[in-house]
Amino acid sequence: MAAEVVVVGSCMTDLVSLTTRLPRSGETILGHKFFIGFGGKGANQCVQSARLGAKTSLICKVGKDSFGNDYVENLKKNGISTAFVGQTADAATGTASIIVNSEGQNVIVIVPGANLLFNFEDLKRASDVICKAKVVVCQLEITPAVSLEALKMARANGVKTLFNPAPALADLDPQFYTHSDIFCCNETEAEILTGIPVGNLEDAGKVGRMLLERGCKLIIVTLGAEGCMMISVEEPIPKHVPAGKVRAVDTTGAGDSFVGALAFYLAYYPKLSMEDMIRNSNYVASVSVQAAGTQSSYPYRKDLPQNLF
Ligand code: ADP
Repeated sequence: MAAEVVVVGSCMTDLVSLTTRLPRSGETILGHKFFIGFGGKGANQCVQSARLGAKTSLICKVGKDSFGNDYVENLKKNGISTAFVGQTADAATGTASIIVNSEGQNVIVIVPGANLLFNFEDLKRASDVICKAKVVVCQLEITPAVSLEALKMARANGVKTLFNPAPALADLDPQFYTHSDIFCCNETEAEILTGIPVGNLEDAGKVGRMLLERGCKLIIVTLGAEGCMMISVEEPIPKHVPAGKVRAVDTTGAGDSFVGALAFYLAYYPKLSMEDMIRNSNYVASVSVQAAGTQSSYPYRKDLPQNLF
C-alpha cells in the first residue's frame, strides 16, 4: 500500500544539556541533566502525521552510525515507512547540540551532516512513492534544490504539495511559491521572506497577501498562541483562525506538529473546508505545547477528542 503522506526532509538528533548558565568561550562547566531527543523538521512533521493515523513514508538520509540506527528505529516505532531512509558512511547523522540554562535561554549548533547528502538520485529512487502520495510535504533542512525538485515531481503527478519554508531563506527561489499548493510559514519566516515584521493580525494579513502574489494557491501564517492567518486565491481576504487558550509549557516543534496535522487532514479529509482543517491542526499543535520536548509532546489520535476525526 502506498503512503498517503510523504515527507521529503530532515532527521536530526537533539543532544540537550541543561545547565545553570551558558559557558563562556573556552570555559568548561558542569551541567545537571543530559538527554537525547529525535528532531529535524521533516521527521517531526512525519511523526505527527503518523500519530494521527496517516500512512506515511519519510524520504531522507541519516548517517551509518548509532544515531542513524536509533533514528530508523524511532521512525519504525511511529509506524512510518523507512523504505527510503538512506544511510551514508560519508557523513554523520544530523545533530543539534543544545545547551539550555535555567532561564530557558539556549545556544544551539546544528550540523546537518547526512541531511545535506540527500541528493537528486535518492529522490529519483523514491519517485514512485512520491507520485502515488496524496500529499507531499517539504521544508528547507535539506538541499533546497532537492526540496524544490520533490515539489515539482509531486505537482507533475497531481499530488498536493505542502511547503514549509523553514529555516527561511531571504533569497528563496521563486519557483517554491509556484510549486506549493499550500505555503505554510511562521511569523519569523514570513518576516525574512517579505521584510515585514509580523507583530499583529493586520501584519499577518499583509504578509499573507504579499506571499500569495508570488504564486501560491494558499498561504498560512502560523501565529503561536494566536493560531493562524490564512489567505487563498479563492478567498483573497485574510482570515484569522484562532487557536484555543491553553497553558503552554514548551512550544518547541509546535509548527511541525501543525504542518504534520495539516498534511493528515489534506490526505484523509479532503472534503473538509481549509478553515476546518486549520482549526483542527491548531488543536493538535496546541496539545503539543502543553508537554515538554518536540516529538515527545506530539499527541496520538487515541488521546485526542474523537470529533477531530
Ligand atoms: P513555530 O513552532 O514554527 O514557531 P508557531 O509558534 O506559530 O510555530 O506555532 C504553530 C502552531 O502551534 C500555532 O499556529 C498554534 O496552532 C500552535 N501553538 C503554538 N503556540 C501556542 C500556544 N501558546 N497556545 C496554543 N497554541 C499554540
